[in-house]
Amino acid sequence: QADIAMYQAKAAGRNNLRFFDPAMQASIIARTAMEQALHEALNAKQFRIFYQPQVDAEGRIYGAEALLRWEHPTQGMVSPASFIPLAEETGLILPLGHCVLENTCEQLVKWASLPGMAHLTIAVNVSIRQFRQDDFADQVLAILAKAGANPARLKLELTESILALDLQDIKSKMTRLKAQGVTFSLDDFGTGYSSLAYLKQLPLDQLKIDQSFVRDILNDVNDEAIAKMIIALAASMGLQVIAEGVETTLQKDKLLDLGCANYQGYLFSRPVAIDEFEALINSR
Ligand code: C2E
Ligand code: MG
Ligand code: MG
Ligand code: MG
Repeated sequence: QADIAMYQAKAAGRNNLRFFDPAMQASIIARTAMEQALHEALNAKQFRIFYQPQVDAEGRIYGAEALLRWEHPTQGMVSPASFIPLAEETGLILPLGHCVLENTCEQLVKWASLPGMAHLTIAVNVSIRQFRQDDFADQVLAILAKAGANPARLKLELTESILALDLQDIKSKMTRLKAQGVTFSLDDFGTGYSSLAYLKQLPLDQLKIDQSFVRDILNDVNDEAIAKMIIALAASMGLQVIAEGVETTLQKDKLLDLGCANYQGYLFSRPVAIDEFEALINSR
């Protein structure tokens, strides 16, 4: 293989740039295949939305985060961690993200007529690539209107990466959506590099403590200090705070002690298919 690649590179001539690193060539081929597979998956409707409960201090479910899954015909459920980055790079995240918003808004409408479900909110992850589109706010409002969903039940999760965009632009998109009732959460908070001066200018509703600080919160004084700081920051900015990745009662109790009263994590439930999520609500 290496010989062939080297031969091809030589044959192409000294002044022509060719990939002659077989490992690099293999990874490019794999990437192209993956990109192709993602396109096919979208056409074949192989993407599913799973719902992970969000609970309050009393353990009551008040909402869910929508998490994308790829139901691969041979590999089973594929985690978004393995395809979102490529979907972002290739732009496929745009139709995919649009689909997620349409689906979740339709779900909100179904719940709206059910007494035990009408109060539920859905948090949807939005990538910077989606948010960057000039007409992002209009798209979201059009999807909400088409479905007939209450914007106040939709929460959009942004990450600190959006702070790379023009601040006025971010603010105007958020403000336009907030005027209709849409709320915003800052996901994975503490892992990016937000300038607090920027942060305070964003019309946010919630900070989400990243699971990397929750994992060792009982044993690592630095993680505890960071969680504490985020909770204090949220309180002083008048924002709600939620912790992700809560797996044990001890972690939950610790967070409650520190003043965080909203949680998401395996302690309560893994992300589950819609039927299972509804069964969870109905069983309470
Ligand atoms: P995220 O938004 O920070 O979502 C939280 C991740 O933590 C999810 O991984 C969830 O399954 C996982 N998780 C929840 N509870 C626990 C727990 O107690 N312990 C541990 N160890 N993990 C827990 P998932 O579903 O694999 O999603 C990974 C990331 O993919 C998400 O991170 C989000 O950034 C991205 N993503 C998922 N769905 C979408 C989507 O529709 N659009 C976009 N743009 N990104 C998405
Ligand atoms: Mg999220
Ligand atoms: Mg997160
Ligand atoms: Mg995360």
